[in-house]
Amino acid sequence: MIKGPKHSALLIEYKSRDGKVYPSDIAQAYAGVLAARADGIVITRAEVHTKSQKYTLPAIHSNESIVSRISDPLNSARIVASGGVPTAKPQLYKCRSCSYKKHCPHAIL
Ligand code: SF4
Repeated sequence: MIKGPKHSALLIEYKSRDGKVYPSDIAQAYAGVLAARADGIVITRAEVHTKSQKYTLPAIHSNESIVSRISDPLNSARIVASGGVPTAKPQLYKCRSCSYKKHCPHAIL
């Protein structure tokens, strides 16, 4: 969600879980900043909200610095977009809430 004027907006990445903010949530927020900028919206602050926690991203810098911060998930997204399958990186906290866990050969449960 984006709030405020286009020249100085706040981006909020909402998560439905009642728990902590994960690095993947932060990466999604950064990706949202890039997408908003592509639409001409200047994001000056960005936050991730779960039902119980709020995290404010560090200062928002250039697109290049954002891309470098989220290069791993961006590369995975590019692989998926081109029809490939990225390397699995199972982590207990992710696998527990993953909808694919019953079928995934890499799941940690
Ligand atoms: S169950 Fe598989 S797809 Fe889901 S988070 Fe774990 S490793 Fe990734």
